[in-house]
Amino acid sequence: MDYAKQFIVTPGSKVDLTKIDAGYKDSHESHEAAMPEIEAYRDKLRDLQFRLYAETKQSLLICLQALDAAGKDGTVNHVLSAMNPQGCRVYGFKQPSAEELAHDFLWRIHKATPAKGEVAIFNRSQYEDVLVVRVHDLVPKSVWSKRYDLINDFERLLVDNGTRVVKFFLHISEDEQLRRFKQRIDDPARNWKISDADYKERSYWADYQKAYQEALSTCSTKHAPWYVIPANHKWFRNLAVSQIIVKTLEAMDPKIPAPTVDLDAIKKQYHAAEVAEEDGKV
Ligand code: ATP
Ligand code: MG
Repeated sequence: MDYAKQFIVTPGSKVDLTKIDAGYKDSHESHEAAMPEIEAYRDKLRDLQFRLYAETKQSLLICLQALDAAGKDGTVNHVLSAMNPQGCRVYGFKQPSAEELAHDFLWRIHKATPAKGEVAIFNRSQYEDVLVVRVHDLVPKSVWSKRYDLINDFERLLVDNGTRVVKFFLHISEDEQLRRFKQRIDDPARNWKISDADYKERSYWADYQKAYQEALSTCSTKHAPWYVIPANHKWFRNLAVSQIIVKTLEAMDPKIPAPTVDLDAIKKQYHAAEVAEEDGKV
């Protein structure tokens, strides 16, 4: 199945999240059954990122957005597990600092965008400024409503400069979120991940869905598409996200650069013995 085609928010279309099944898992019966495919994409990801890093001409920005416990951290882990940390950086965007608030909302974001050859993963992103900010009226509507166009223009700037931008919304159901919160309470190793704020935010579920729908509908562009990933099944989420990243990198087609030196000359000069041996064998 081509998940990029299946889960893309077609530019100009209106997203209705109530119509998207968060529990979707394609025809895969179980995690175990999907394992070989998941591993195959991980291998492809490794190879493609190596080539991107070696090529040093283009970069990839992956934005992850989701409600609490929808699996942003798990997705970062999965994608990162396939990558050379030298060429991949992760940024988490929390509540802005006083210094960040003293600048325009894209200031902190722009500083974190990937350099040529790099992959950057954003755990939350520029979209918080039309999501949490909108839901909690942190700035007036006259301010946040202009940000959709500003974000589209910003992403266009990145794309024009050689950065591919892909954005994933990890879509979980309300029940699944509650189940995961409960697991965090029951599992001592995960207690630290739960807070009162998570339950408070949950009470704004409908407002968040509305804000997400507008962000997804308005900011899925040809140059920087949004994908809505069914994420109730963590393994399916990993499979779909990694397949789409692989496809994106394949389209970028990074190439290992040609050698900058005369390999034969170097071989003859510094590996004379081996060259003589090889010649003798012929
Ligand atoms: P986890 O999902 O593991 O809890 P997290 O990303 O939610 O991780 P937290 O420290 O719990 O991390 O929360 C960060 C908070 O910062 C979120 O509630 C998010 O909405 C908020 N935040 C991020 N960007 C902005 C912004 N521009 N303005 C206001 N709040 C923001
Ligand atoms: Mg949180």
